[in-house]
Amino acid sequence: MQFNTRLLTHKFEYLAPETLTEALDLLNQYQAHHIKVLAGGTDLLVKMKTIDMEVDYLLYIKGIKELNFVDTAAGLSIGAIIPYSRLLKEDKIKTKYTALYEGIQAIAAPAIRNMGTIAGNIGNASPAADTVPPLIAFGAEVQIENKQGKRTILLENLFTGPGKTVLKPDELITRITVPEVKPQTGSAFIKKSRVKADLAKINLAVSLTRNGQNCEDCKIVFGSVAATAVRAPRTEKLLEGHSMTEELFIQAAKSVANEIKPIDDIRSTAEYRILMSQEMLYDALKLAWGRTYSQNESDPKNGGE
Ligand SMILES: Cc1cc2nc3c(=O)[nH]c(=O)nc-3n(C[C@H](O)[C@H](O)[C@H](O)COP(=O)(O)OP(=O)(O)OC[C@H]3O[C@@H](n4cnc5c(N)ncnc54)[C@H](O)[C@@H]3O)c2cc1C
Repeated sequence: MQFNTRLLTHKFEYLAPETLTEALDLLNQYQAHHIKVLAGGTDLLVKMKTIDMEVDYLLYIKGIKELNFVDTAAGLSIGAIIPYSRLLKEDKIKTKYTALYEGIQAIAAPAIRNMGTIAGNIGNASPAADTVPPLIAFGAEVQIENKQGKRTILLENLFTGPGKTVLKPDELITRITVPEVKPQTGSAFIKKSRVKADLAKINLAVSLTRNGQNCEDCKIVFGSVAATAVRAPRTEKLLEGHSMTEELFIQAAKSVANEIKPIDDIRSTAEYRILMSQEMLYDALKLAWGRTYSQNESDPKNGGE
């Protein structure tokens, strides 16, 4: 039964490895027990207080120096313990991965952004996670490690349902990598929530590249409209290779409303989500398209940014 005790009432053993090898050894050793990875704790500790979650071992990873890095030399490479507030200081994220920057900014408040991590947002696997749609839109991959070795998986293929991923009990997300964006790429993130510091009723990330007046490599990713974040492939195809006219923006908005199949839940209704998906896609496409123009170059139709 869900009941908020506001206390950690369960007994568990707290493990705080200082190296990655040590962490992977511990995950290997206790994988048959209830071992949980603890990063910022902004999801996990709340869950441990509010639901009957069995935890025998809590593996705190923020002391592991090998996971404490951000590399922006080629694309992005983000270590698993980097807090959001650190990422907001990266100029490259703001200018080239704008939808990700906006997704991070949309998360709660500074206190949560000082503690929370992208790896935790992914590990929690909420369909409403705010960094997941932009990361999918940019083609992000997740590096996963266990004692036996490492594997890389496209973020889009990691989730299997609400709170569920393909991660095995002995596996740790160690880094998130995002490919370099092509020149003349623009992106945008839009979120609708009940109040500012709340999960999304619906969120959306768009990334696209401009070739003359045509749209290329369009990715449209919605959160909170299905069991996992979802792309809208039919609408992406409708846009790709075509000139970005006002008529096409409107057509795309209509198309997406037929493509997503949201449900009613605690935060919103399916009807609201379908209506909003159209408005949000129209706005996000316009924003992202405007951002494909550099400051010295203006969009003949939209006037650029
Ligand atoms: C008040 C409040 C407001 C919030 N608002 C938002 C919001 O607006 N948008 C939003 O998206 N989220 C929001 N959240 C949720 C939360 O802040 C984010 O999901 C955050 O990114 C979680 O990161 P963390 O480091 O705190 O994860 P943790 O709580 O430490 O972990 C979350 C889950 O991921 C697993 N995990 C963590 N790191 C790893 C790893 N390296 N490898 C494998 N598994 C791992 C944990 O075992 C756990 O299951 C909010 C939370 C609170 C308390």
